[in-house]
Amino acid sequence: MADRIYYPKSALAEAAHCKSMEQYKQMHEKSIKNPEEFWGEIAKQFYWETPTSDNKFFSYNFNLNEGDIFIKWMEGASTNISFNLLDKNVKCGNGDKIAFYWEGNDPDDYSRLTYRKLLEETCKFANVLKSKGVEKGDRVAIYMPMILELPIAMLACTRIGAVHSVVFAGYSSDSLAERMLDSKAKVLITTDGVWRGPKLLLLKTICDEAMAKVKVNNHEVESCIVVSHLRRLANPHGGGSTATDGGNIKNGINSNGNGANEPNIPWDDDRDCWWHEEMEDAEPSCYPVWISAEDPLFILYTSGSTGKPKGVLHTTAGYLIYAATTFKYVFDYKPNDVFWCTADIGWITGHTYVVYGPLANCATSVLFEGTPFHPQNDRYWSVIDKYKVSQFYTAPTAIRSLMKFGDSLVKKYDLTTLRVLGSVGEPINSEAWLWFYNLVGHGKCSIADTFWQTETGGHVITPLPGATPMKPGSATFPFFGVLPELLDEDGKIIEGEGEGYLVFRQPWPGMMRTLYANHERFQTTYFDRFHGYYCTGDGARRDADGYLWITGRIDDMLNVSGHLMSTAEVESVLTEHPAVAEAAVVSKPHPVKGQCLYCFITPNEGRKFEKQLEDELKKKVREKIGPFAQPDVIHHAPGLPKTRSGKIMRRILRKIAIGDRNVGDTSTLADDSIVDTLFQLRPQV
Ligand code: AMP
Repeated sequence: MADRIYYPKSALAEAAHCKSMEQYKQMHEKSIKNPEEFWGEIAKQFYWETPTSDNKFFSYNFNLNEGDIFIKWMEGASTNISFNLLDKNVKCGNGDKIAFYWEGNDPDDYSRLTYRKLLEETCKFANVLKSKGVEKGDRVAIYMPMILELPIAMLACTRIGAVHSVVFAGYSSDSLAERMLDSKAKVLITTDGVWRGPKLLLLKTICDEAMAKVKVNNHEVESCIVVSHLRRLANPHGGGSTATDGGNIKNGINSNGNGANEPNIPWDDDRDCWWHEEMEDAEPSCYPVWISAEDPLFILYTSGSTGKPKGVLHTTAGYLIYAATTFKYVFDYKPNDVFWCTADIGWITGHTYVVYGPLANCATSVLFEGTPFHPQNDRYWSVIDKYKVSQFYTAPTAIRSLMKFGDSLVKKYDLTTLRVLGSVGEPINSEAWLWFYNLVGHGKCSIADTFWQTETGGHVITPLPGATPMKPGSATFPFFGVLPELLDEDGKIIEGEGEGYLVFRQPWPGMMRTLYANHERFQTTYFDRFHGYYCTGDGARRDADGYLWITGRIDDMLNVSGHLMSTAEVESVLTEHPAVAEAAVVSKPHPVKGQCLYCFITPNEGRKFEKQLEDELKKKVREKIGPFAQPDVIHHAPGLPKTRSGKIMRRILRKIAIGDRNVGDTSTLADDSIVDTLFQLRPQV
């Protein structure tokens, strides 16, 4: 069944924005050959305070031989994103339309927010930011769970031209501090805490640790604005604002019946303030600051192969039109649909497809705070049923973990409102694809396996639901404006069937412009390997029908449950432990997470390798990077397989990790007896 081609159902295709492969091909060709005209028509749907200068719609250099790399769209134009996403929609008569259905961690906590209320809250909070001294170009760090104040905070930044830098609220205080230091954040927005499943996380405590670490490094976060989320949940009629147009919030600190007392929230009177207190007297209107097309919109950090995170910078006009267009076509969004992307806003998927893309299309979305497993393993299906979701966008790791519980949990619910299913974050294996297609999508929905990256801003290789015949596991064809190539080691283009480095030949509007305050690193990371191309860092295969299949990272990066991490990042945490002399981390296939971390550890002379050390190392990685980065295996390695020049041969370590004795050529190793030793010490996992 996996090698069958699945055609879009005719009812879906007939009503779709893009109805056939022929239409797709025509549109794609125009977008490549005449990008000015293609994107210019789309840009007309938005409000521009000043238009693009003549002949300045699109310019770029992708070739280091010809000078510095740059990408510019709509130079000279100015606009404001929050104005386009909110004021424009309210003015068009959609003020009462629901922008977000908020579904809390506990099924009894839910609320909703209309476009009108979202505009008002955004303006009020923009005024709060102004009162804290935030000006155009200042960086605002956001460390929040999936609550309505999160998109409000982001949109308030865009209202006044501040640059938001959202940090996933599962990151440790070290990771948060590192990101705030790099971006020189002036303000931090957070919550007192959050329930994630049955677990209480005290976010403000983590923020305090992070702000102290920032201070030690000679930077100071001037203000910290805190949403009283826990208290609001505990006492909806008491403390804490409710940015909502109705709903039900009845559970809170004691929501899980575990009798936890109200936690102690650390506080600094000179620096910290409560969101709801600041909002009380804030003006409900705020004139938008007009922003130039290429002014920064946000910074989002992603792992870099050297270990230090990269501050991917996206700008205003190009990102807006690309987020809007991918959302419309890839999810085939129509005005009465209810869209649900399960990604956390802390990742790029949440930025583009929880916040910017849906609001730019005046869509109604679900904003979900919880996890797929709480209170039961049927939570996703119950939410789809509850809100009559029409597009459901999630990750292969979530699909695989839910498959384990069998089909009956899915069948309990009415999922017939679904029309399009989406997958993102890693290659989807055909078994998971077929389960998603047949059971969740009742054999009628199209699946959009969307390949993209933090750097690309939006989908770059993806099927279109009404047009593209699907092959399970293939991300299929490029989106409008995207021109992929496969290159061999020497940079030669591979025509037809073949496998190689996935690169792009020209920019599309939504791609990153630089790495924050480090254009040099931007150029060397993405444009130095093959001059003239943007290098994704992924490999891909093209089959005889021209379909693209992503084969995974070709650099030292790992993808654990859709979270990208570098081996260097984890290794540097492990070697910080006083008992560790050396560490090498590789990925091992994992049935649910896709990949997991497999760590080889060489203890210092005189230190014994024991269970306690294993536990300490796992804990250290959790604390330093975040719980999602916890290693699955710690393998005692008295030595590592190294070449004579001292380079660790990870290819061999990957074989040892999966127990495959067929390790290939070992003649370049300084000491090949280490391979046998490592096989002997392989833990039973
Ligand atoms: P991130 O920048 O964290 O969103 O991670 C981007 C990386 O995730 C890509 O470079 C790919 O390795 C992987 N990825 C994302 N979506 C897909 C997909 N649909 N198929 C295969 N790999 C994917």
